[in-house]
Amino acid sequence: MRVDISHSGTILIGRSISADGPSERKIQFVSHAHTDHIGGLKKKAIQKQTVVCTAPTLELATELLHHQPPDAAILEYRKPREFEGESVELYPANHILGSAQLLVESKEGTLAYTGDFKQPGTAIVSSDSLVIEATYGAPIYQRQAGDGEVAFIETVEKCLREGPLAVYAYAAKVQEALQILSNIVEAEFFLDQSCLKIAKIYAKHGVKLPKYSCLSDQEIMTLQKGDRAVMFRAFGRQRERLRHQRIILSGWAPEVVSKIDGGFMVRLSDHADFNQLINYVEEARPRQVYTDASRSSYAGVLAKAIEARLRLPAKALPAR
Ligand SMILES: [Zn+2]
Repeated sequence: MRVDISHSGTILIGRSISADGPSERKIQFVSHAHTDHIGGLKKKAIQKQTVVCTAPTLELATELLHHQPPDAAILEYRKPREFEGESVELYPANHILGSAQLLVESKEGTLAYTGDFKQPGTAIVSSDSLVIEATYGAPIYQRQAGDGEVAFIETVEKCLREGPLAVYAYAAKVQEALQILSNIVEAEFFLDQSCLKIAKIYAKHGVKLPKYSCLSDQEIMTLQKGDRAVMFRAFGRQRERLRHQRIILSGWAPEVVSKIDGGFMVRLSDHADFNQLINYVEEARPRQVYTDASRSSYAGVLAKAIEARLRLPAKALPAR
């Protein structure tokens, strides 16, 4: 099956499907609602196309973009549907709420696209050709399971000894962070308005979060040094100057914890590390692999490693 990836990150599959970026094609699949995957849903980009995704992805993307795509086909996992003569089926990916992998089947064969994922919890999809993410596609990225979670809890505890704390994180990461702290860190949790809207979508889809409440910017000023309060704030607000300590949550910082002005940066990754990427390909055993170079500088390294270790043809797209 034909496949290509544009420099702007759109994955072109078969005859009429595109994924995770703007295109003129009739069917637009969106793997999940992170900003580098929803560019195709922006008002100008989306015209007469059908958007294919899960229900949570549509709701999260609508909240982030402040508009809804005019034509959306909501798919459940493992329930294939035909579009323009090609069968489309979604499989779960452990990344953020609603994340999905795509399997396309036509007369030309089968192709799977992983989107972003981490392990454990992501289904292995077998196909003739595989397009795989490559965020941590270099061997330097080998992590201990749970290292980010432990570092996050320890850093929060360390900061709370000094007083209230602000945590800056991207929309979906706030919920993941709340779940990690739940039942371990004793504190009051406060969400700003934008985090609150996303939390409501998570709750609607059955994700259990610890008790939290909302705090206005004026109320934040009343927090005292002895208060064990963790305030979750939108990532975009990290330049604000509160007098409290802060943690910035990153998905891909090179160090698990690093010191920054006024606090710490903690890596809480949503991506498979190098070994998990290789393991995915080994288990899926496709005939041809493509690594996504539009979102990672390590796609070429990963493709070479797949060829050397697994003896499978692999190529980074777009070619440089
Ligand atoms: Zn993502």
